[in-house]
Amino acid sequence: MLESIKKIFSGSDEEPLVNSTVKPEISREKSAELYEKSKTYFPGGVNSPVRAFKSVYGTPLFIQRGDGCFLWDADGNQFIDFCASWGPLILGHNHPAVREKVIEVMQNGMSFGAPTALENQLAELILKHNKFIKKLRFTSSGTEAVMSAVRLARGYTKRDKIIKFEGCYHGHLDALLVKAGSGLVTFGETSSAGIPKSVADETIVIPLNNIGAVEQAFEQFKDQIAAVIIEPVPANNGLLLQTKEFLDFLRSICTKNKSLLIFDEVISGFRVGFEGAAGYFDIQPDIITYGKIIGGGLPVGMYGASEEIMSMISPEGPVYQAGTLSGNPVAMAAGIAQLTELSKSNFYKDLNTKTSEFVESIQRYATANNYKFKVFTIGSIFWFAFTDLESISCAEDIDPASMEKFKMMHRELLNRGIYFGPSGYEVGFVSSAHSKTELEKAKRAIFESLDIVFKGQRA
Ligand code: PLP
Repeated sequence: MLESIKKIFSGSDEEPLVNSTVKPEISREKSAELYEKSKTYFPGGVNSPVRAFKSVYGTPLFIQRGDGCFLWDADGNQFIDFCASWGPLILGHNHPAVREKVIEVMQNGMSFGAPTALENQLAELILKHNKFIKKLRFTSSGTEAVMSAVRLARGYTKRDKIIKFEGCYHGHLDALLVKAGSGLVTFGETSSAGIPKSVADETIVIPLNNIGAVEQAFEQFKDQIAAVIIEPVPANNGLLLQTKEFLDFLRSICTKNKSLLIFDEVISGFRVGFEGAAGYFDIQPDIITYGKIIGGGLPVGMYGASEEIMSMISPEGPVYQAGTLSGNPVAMAAGIAQLTELSKSNFYKDLNTKTSEFVESIQRYATANNYKFKVFTIGSIFWFAFTDLESISCAEDIDPASMEKFKMMHRELLNRGIYFGPSGYEVGFVSSAHSKTELEKAKRAIFESLDIVFKGQRA
């Protein structure tokens, strides 16, 4: 495998490729065997749906280990990883500082259901560098953090309705697992069975980047809106970059109507900068949710706000929220080690520069070849879109048919040792573990894969 990767990756940046050739399929024998077994244990064989590879070719790869920017699957195939466990691994896999801190803390036991100094340490690391929140509460996942933030907003405002945007994902809580109906401002239609209509009716779904729709919703539901929730960097349905003007407008309309603005920064938090999107756009939300990166690869989420808003949370206030494993010492340890690395000077500058050089070079190659292909990017997040639109800022601008091209590209990339999340709606992440050499290799594989997708060399 390694030998064949070496051969594929010779050549320099943006040099036109001649006759990109179809590569043989990687072996998936062991993964396929494990998948057959896992289907007998789990619905669809997985513990989270996208892992089932339904939107791409082949059966899911079962991962055996990760180190730095590399992954190895059960068949021994090696990949340069751009999925990063869906975002948390900003330092790459198995980072020594994270691993060592976790091992050190584990020597003392795994969970006590009582406070530890580690919670204070992680909270201090977060709050010391973040002017947007003053108090926080740790949870065990992003979903829990968002669910708690929504309850907090409702408890604080004594209102029930929530505005969310089509194309933003906030985890699998009932209130937000809803999609737009037909029309500009609609009550959510549940996007999963099992959600009562009465719950979906409290959620108003509108298109992203549409000031008129937000105004209409506030007029229609005057004094009923507890909160507007948005991923300020929507990165779950492609990368639907919003303007600062739109986010500023959300801030001001929420203030005017005494509704809270929730920034769901489970992806963007500590990714587009230490202060996340709030810092990037310099906008003060009322509540912020984080997850992924703050756990260094272990299950952690959190939400934070001003002292006044957070004083509503139990046991100080009337909004109940709890968790057996909240603030778990091992997870705290991973977070402390990871955020300590991120707080070092130039961490984000270096990572973001490396990412923009990488994606700009891919864009130049696609443009030079007249491929209908754009790379959208912010910080160390990027998204491959098979489009000729200059920008895509709302879900409706994505052509679902373009996902066929991603599907082809995904196969070509895997066959060249490059691992992306198995859906064209998912973004990619660069980590500090991706060296220039690996990014160079990845670029060559991406160029070749684009050639094959656009020149139709594979049936
Ligand atoms: N919010 C956002 C923006 C997310 O991207 C996700 C997960 O991808 C969540 C919430 C839910 O987080 P978790 O999967 O940890 O429950």
